[in-house]
Amino acid sequence: DAITGRPYRPLSESEAQQLSIHLQERWNRANPELSLELPVDAHRQRVISAVQASRVVVIAGETGCGKTTRVPRFLLEDRVRGGSGAECNILVTQPRRISAVSVAHRVAQEMGPALKQSVGYQVRLESRLPEHSGGALLFLTVGVLLRKLQSNPTLKGISHVVVDEVHERDINTDLLLALLRTSLNENPDLRVVLMSATGDNQRLAQYFGGCPIVKVPGFMHPVRDKYLEDVLKEMGRRSQVPERAKTDKENDATPDLDLVADVIEHIDRCGEPGAVLCFLPGWQDIKAVQEKLEEKPRFSSGSQMILPLHSSLSVADQQAVFQRPQVGQRKIVLATNIAETSVTIDDIVHVVDAGTHKEQNYDPRTKVSCLDTVWISRSNVTQRKGRAGRCQPGQSYHLFSRKQLESMPPFPIPEILRIPLESLVVQAKIHSPNSKAVDFLSQVLDSPEPESVRDAVRNLQDIGVLDRTETLTPLGDRVACMSCDPRLGKILVLSSMFRCVMPMLSVAACLTRDPFHNSLQNRALVNKAKEALSGSSYSDYLVVSRAVLGWRKVQHDGNREDRDDFLERHTLSKASLRFINGLISQFSDNLHDAGLVSHPSDCQRYTSLYNEHSNQDELLKAVLLAGLYPNLIQVKKGVVTKGGRFRPNSISLRTLSGPVLLHRSSVNRGKEDLPSRWLTFFSAIKSNGNVFIRDSSTVHPLALLLLTDCDITEMVHGDKIEVSFSGRSLVRCELQVETWELLWELRTSIQT
Ligand code: ADP
Ligand code: MG
Repeated sequence: DAITGRPYRPLSESEAQQLSIHLQERWNRANPELSLELPVDAHRQRVISAVQASRVVVIAGETGCGKTTRVPRFLLEDRVRGGSGAECNILVTQPRRISAVSVAHRVAQEMGPALKQSVGYQVRLESRLPEHSGGALLFLTVGVLLRKLQSNPTLKGISHVVVDEVHERDINTDLLLALLRTSLNENPDLRVVLMSATGDNQRLAQYFGGCPIVKVPGFMHPVRDKYLEDVLKEMGRRSQVPERAKTDKENDATPDLDLVADVIEHIDRCGEPGAVLCFLPGWQDIKAVQEKLEEKPRFSSGSQMILPLHSSLSVADQQAVFQRPQVGQRKIVLATNIAETSVTIDDIVHVVDAGTHKEQNYDPRTKVSCLDTVWISRSNVTQRKGRAGRCQPGQSYHLFSRKQLESMPPFPIPEILRIPLESLVVQAKIHSPNSKAVDFLSQVLDSPEPESVRDAVRNLQDIGVLDRTETLTPLGDRVACMSCDPRLGKILVLSSMFRCVMPMLSVAACLTRDPFHNSLQNRALVNKAKEALSGSSYSDYLVVSRAVLGWRKVQHDGNREDRDDFLERHTLSKASLRFINGLISQFSDNLHDAGLVSHPSDCQRYTSLYNEHSNQDELLKAVLLAGLYPNLIQVKKGVVTKGGRFRPNSISLRTLSGPVLLHRSSVNRGKEDLPSRWLTFFSAIKSNGNVFIRDSSTVHPLALLLLTDCDITEMVHGDKIEVSFSGRSLVRCELQVETWELLWELRTSIQT
């Protein structure tokens, strides 16, 4: 060393990290906007001591108090200061991929250049890992951590797992908590920190043996509540509150988007300066309100900045909501419930709350699962309102009446109690193959009804994912790799065997996200476009698959004009198609993970082996049936009307659980000339006591015979044989005995 004259010695890792912290502090002083004091900073020592003293700690604090961005850093810095930074590896889970990435960026930025490289993120298909392990902070999605747990169930090498947004109570987080209880028992070095917004955290602490709760008080300016009646009065409208749908699940709580746009305009005109945050249920609503606002003359001058915020936006687009508007410009953020707790925008003064969100709901009676727009709970109302008082006193425009508020449930219902349990059971089987699903799931925080779990197990057995002993079958092992509903997963697995992958990838993606520009005004146009794409396929699935494949083709071959023309002609949404493309890649990767395709992009190439039969419509429909079975609809010709008249050409439809109708968005709706007596379907929706099938496809009886394991009874009449499927005579057909024998042999060989 030239200065001291002593022999040169490189810094040890912990000395280097301490030096970094010193540099860090200097950097903080130089970058005040990234090192703002947050409420949690005052509780830093309490947090650190609690985590030292107890292996599990709950940290409860109001949204925006700095839990996500600061607590993991406190833990890391404390270990580094204590000289044991090298053994500190912190995993921080986020329920959404978008927040894992954006929080990692934010924290890295806040930590400054010296420690930036210790921060990383890992989400499905994308990661930037910390430069070294030891003294590392990794933000990851719950899904990724669940995967890590498969190969490393005790989390060896991990010092802390910070589970963020525990209050959201999504299925994956609940499952993770159950698994962490086991890991804690087996790995004495592991510590768990649970971070939650304020609410009922006692139960959570109880679940971890009565662990301590560190409460971090937030700071909030007062926020004035204005309910629908007040809002209407303020706007000079009839103060009569329109009668809105009740909270029962039968009624869709679709918001009045014209009113939403009018209220925002009113705030822009009369409200004090400051940003507006509007909560809407979904992407479609956000787009619609944005369009309505942009049509208003007031909004043509550019003095407003309208920013959509939704989980399918890119990180960069999402970052835009943090921008400060120019002087005299008003920022208006149109968001889903992502802005409720996971993204905090500081300069909000006015909240407009439509009072609804999208929720996956499952009706065990009809076995129908759907994404409904439903009223939020009172605790969501409080959360949303609180977003307004972060920089100054604010107001919350609740677009529902006081009476409506009273009828809302106090807390949201955990996802685990709302959705079909099939995927959860598959997960349970992966993580705990030796216990019965019912037993494993009785360990989670809000155990689902044992009866529903048994139902799910039976459904999975019906579709061949689990065998009679409840073990994943070879098909089940592959379906478990697919990040989608098990039925769609089965379709994808089969499509790789029947070499028609690309159309099925499109279908699976489109059942997650509708590619059409669907809105009330557009409905007729969309239906016309679908009809044109449908041709004589009688299949909603072939419609979407043709739309996606057509779009990919013009993307590849066409110029800009062709592309725009294609989108317009078919009323397709570019944003949705992009999202769908992302899903297609994700599912292709799943197929690759399952060992079914040699390279993920191979199956997307139309000329590849995997798409050899992709243009055979009947085969595509057969593969769909094989995946969707036993979702079967029987079509009967001839209907007796209520008045007692017989209409020979009308048709009636029923599933195993009762009569159904086709949804108005289906291409098969109103078609009396369906070429088959069988339809298969994926999703249904319940409304006003009727079950509407959203999407369907005709099915050839041969496909039913060959590709499903439906029960069959045979009755021989001379040289003819009468076959009925499913014991309940779901299908009847007459065949020559030899034909029958041949088919039977084929069926057996396909199924083995
Ligand atoms: P909590 O997890 O307690 O809800 P966060 O740690 O997410 O709080 O946020 C703390 C503060 O940091 C908030 O005021 C928020 O606005 C700010 N913040 C977080 N991420 C960003 C970002 N990407 N850009 C600007 N500010 C951010
Ligand atoms: Mg947070």
